[in-house]
Amino acid sequence: MSTATRPSFSELLATRKVLLADGATGTNYQDKGLGLGVAPEEWLFDSPDLVLELHREFVVAGVDLILTDTFGATSLRLADSALEGRAREVNLRAVELAREAAGDTVLVAGSLGPTGQLAEPLGPLGPDECAAAYAEQAAALHAGGVDLLVMETFFALEEAVPAIRGIQSASDLPLVVSFSFDRGTHTMMGVSPRDFVDAVAPFGVAALGANCGRSLADADLVVVQLLEAAGDTPVWVKPNAGVPKMIGDQVVYEATPEIIAEHIRLYVDQGVRIVGGCCGSTPTHVAAIAAAIR
Ligand SMILES: [Zn+2]
Repeated sequence: MSTATRPSFSELLATRKVLLADGATGTNYQDKGLGLGVAPEEWLFDSPDLVLELHREFVVAGVDLILTDTFGATSLRLADSALEGRAREVNLRAVELAREAAGDTVLVAGSLGPTGQLAEPLGPLGPDECAAAYAEQAAALHAGGVDLLVMETFFALEEAVPAIRGIQSASDLPLVVSFSFDRGTHTMMGVSPRDFVDAVAPFGVAALGANCGRSLADADLVVVQLLEAAGDTPVWVKPNAGVPKMIGDQVVYEATPEIIAEHIRLYVDQGVRIVGGCCGSTPTHVAAIAAAIR
């Protein structure tokens, strides 16, 4: 595999004002027919054509990087799915498909999400077990050929800090760490953007992020606080397409492509360096963001 034709993440950051990442994985798979209770990673083997299709839709929308379908692919989280015991194979397969869709110019970021378990002292997950699970996932993503690693939708420092240690023990790739501030400007565990930066920045991460969350109005406030706390470290922001609503038996995200694009254009004006969308953000939303920021 040649990397000669595409720049590194740090080169892209150094030469562009803003980079565009992709939109949601889970909610777009649901729109494509992913059943309730089915792990999105199962599609890596059962519906690889649809995994490729979504990646390609984001590439056509104009992104600079796509995230692998590995949000739930630690061994700890896969233990609750049909893919129990197959973490390395799952991560390698996801990178293979993402690389195929990304072509020669779009970067591939390895996605790492929370384990689904509460970390000590709030729950049973010990720091060594946590670090080992993320080291295993990061090693597989690295071996598969990702350009960078992205921890996303984390909410507890007790889980994220051991995860960072594990990832950095296994890979020297650039690491982005992104938290979900979904209780106003705090996470579910009460972590503020300032708390997050104080705990995570000392690890020398490539970017500090906020993703998912709740409403775009809350994201507006989080972005201000995160930019202020992050200082010179690049900031990554991928908000949800507003708040989900049930219409009949359908979950619909309230923000239109134009609305999310307008919020993100303002984030870029304030200094956010990497943008994209989280839950509810379709390829159409991402294309609108691309048009708004370029
Ligand atoms: Zn989300």
